Amino acid sequence: MNADLAYAELGLDLERRIGKRSAAVIEKHLGITTVGGLLNHFPRRYMDRGELTPISEVPLDEDVTLIARVVSSSTRFMKTRRGSLTDVVITDDAGAGTGRPGTLTVSFFNGHRAKAELQPGRRALFSGKITRYGGALGLTNPDFKLLDGDPDTPGMDPEKLAAMPIPVYPATAKLTSWSIQKVVETLLDTADLDAVPDPLPAAITAREKFVPVADAYRLIHAPHGPEDWQRARDRFRYQEALVLQSALARRRAQLAAEEATARRPAAEGLLAAFDRQLPFTLTAGQAAVGRTLAAELAQDSPMNRLLQGEVGSGKTIVALRAMLQVVDAGGQAALLAPTEVLAAQHFESIRRTLGPLSRDGMLGGFGPDAVQVTLLTGSMPTAARKQAMLDAASGTAGIVIGTHALLSDNVSFYDLGLIVVDEQHRFGVEQRDVLRSKASKPPHLLVMTATPIPRTVAMTVFGDLETSVLDELPAGRAPITTHIVGLAEHPAWATRIWSRAREEIDAGHQVYIVCPKIGSDDDGDFSPGEPEPSAADLNGEKGARELASVAGVVELLRDEPALAGVPVAPLHGRLDPVLKSETMASFTANQTKLLVSTTVIEVGVDVHNATLMVILDADRFGISQLHQLRGRVGRGGLPGTCLLVTSLEPGHPSRRRLDAVAATTDGFALSQEDLLLRREGDILGASQSGGRSTLKLLRVLDHEHVIARARQDAQAIVGGDPSLGAHPVLAAAIDEYLNPEKEAFLERG
Ligand code: ADP
Ligand code: MG
Repeated sequence: MNADLAYAELGLDLERRIGKRSAAVIEKHLGITTVGGLLNHFPRRYMDRGELTPISEVPLDEDVTLIARVVSSSTRFMKTRRGSLTDVVITDDAGAGTGRPGTLTVSFFNGHRAKAELQPGRRALFSGKITRYGGALGLTNPDFKLLDGDPDTPGMDPEKLAAMPIPVYPATAKLTSWSIQKVVETLLDTADLDAVPDPLPAAITAREKFVPVADAYRLIHAPHGPEDWQRARDRFRYQEALVLQSALARRRAQLAAEEATARRPAAEGLLAAFDRQLPFTLTAGQAAVGRTLAAELAQDSPMNRLLQGEVGSGKTIVALRAMLQVVDAGGQAALLAPTEVLAAQHFESIRRTLGPLSRDGMLGGFGPDAVQVTLLTGSMPTAARKQAMLDAASGTAGIVIGTHALLSDNVSFYDLGLIVVDEQHRFGVEQRDVLRSKASKPPHLLVMTATPIPRTVAMTVFGDLETSVLDELPAGRAPITTHIVGLAEHPAWATRIWSRAREEIDAGHQVYIVCPKIGSDDDGDFSPGEPEPSAADLNGEKGARELASVAGVVELLRDEPALAGVPVAPLHGRLDPVLKSETMASFTANQTKLLVSTTVIEVGVDVHNATLMVILDADRFGISQLHQLRGRVGRGGLPGTCLLVTSLEPGHPSRRRLDAVAATTDGFALSQEDLLLRREGDILGASQSGGRSTLKLLRVLDHEHVIARARQDAQAIVGGDPSLGAHPVLAAAIDEYLNPEKEAFLERG
């Protein structure tokens, strides 16, 4: 089929099918202008015409659609102004099995139609925002539509009508779900659905017994029973998964088809020397992943690999060994860290780990059996930065460690062979591509995640990469114990925290205190890419209590008797970079005993002597953040303790995250929990394989088998036909998915 022709119907102006007036309304309220746009505006859910909506489950302050029965109605004239007020009490009868029927007062100003139509006993659809007045739930001037004796379906068999689900569209305050439904029904009658192309190959449609695409549009918008929309949803959901996975498979194929420089291991070189001087044995996992990387680096197609590993599983050594293989083969390696603190820390620790095998720019002259390790960050003094850039460009620097400053235009490399992206979740596909463009031939790429991620998330978010997992911790790793310190139940514990810190310091150890804010009047130091506290969280607390801040805690500790004489230092993102690295160095050297910081220490920071991590207002952080933070202690064979301090009442929804973190140290289990508690969109967001659209029917946790099957199919389709010449409709659907703002079918129409 010719894709241009095929897309003609979907790209058609809505006006041509539903008339000027309806098209204008749809464009105004939904921003949709094409036939395809409206056909793909699927109902969010369906209501059962025979059942009333449990009122207690309807969210407050959101546009909702519900079915209820009228209990009573009364109208009175208002005293203070002209007009009448009609109060209609509606009920859900059963209250969703609670036995307590939910009722709601619906008020209409001058509600003549409401007064006439909403008689006791009638059932109707209501659309509006539910609010709470004192204790009572209310709905003011909602739109409504009677259900029994539905004037829209005259002559319809009442039994059939009763079984028909009511589609609920993502509506707006001004356009009810049933108005949208009416327009869509018109469109179903007027559009040439048989001309709509099917992105699914016929073989898959047959194998899965999917309904044809034209029927699927009818069934999803105008189902006669629940099985109708379920069948339609199955096919569109699979279609979504196939388009997404084909986009990823195509990208994998394109990347694999590129030619890279093979970096073969050297028999005698830095890597061999490094392995001989390593003070510990690699874990079995580190060794196995190491072999995989060594083999892939030795090939002349680029490696594109994701390394997942539990906090503290030793990813850095694995990456460093890969970098040394590349340096041995004459290439350069770049290590990209998400923050300056982490870049500096990597720089220090990699030079320390390399020992005599490393040299830095200033000293030089160690001969070919050492590699120059260079730090390059945005905040370095100009002269040092220029020198670092020069060393990268001339090839003097074998390993360049930096932040996103490495991405800037004026940084170039002599022969970049390997890029390692540490703690990946802040680098999207675009940034990976910018980095890749720094090499004349595509470099090898190793991406490391800060936290383990569930399989299907890996398949969706990092679907263009192959995956390796480090699932064991090096031997001798001490356990971390996590406690929730609930100040609401135990206010006295607030001071107990400081004496606990003192005990740790007296035993010769060090302590981290983490705060959600820097000063008393800022929005915190939330790192980009992490979940910010939800609006609900903020509303619950705002104004009630000041959140712990770095400045505030440092101030407080100055007068804290338990910590008298203890060297305390603040650390946060707004600190001068030089001061920041001095502070970190002083903590690493065990001069500073107690570090009060924001989440800048969240990833990668590795101070073995630190044993206590206190997270203040811990409910402000996401699960993976808390898990990361806690991973900063218990690193040097000394048992670690993490205190999650909160002022929220037990049972508060935000405390569920703390309960989850306290209950397990298994990163995979936590990331699964995280995904359940967070909105999926946050995770998929912009990082999603270059595509900006969010998933419609697909849920990465619920539809693992759909995603896995689609991935297999996509691999088979793309593997034999990377340009998708035989699947033009699928190719067009991928374009549409990757560039929703471009509306591929419009340009083709
Ligand atoms: P992460 O995977 O969280 O980035 P790191 O690479 O920072 O973990 O490693 C954590 C610590 O474990 C480092 O101090 C590192 O030197 C140490 N380490 C790594 N591998 C081993 C091993 N096989 N045996 C003992 N210690 C190790
Ligand atoms: Mg690390």
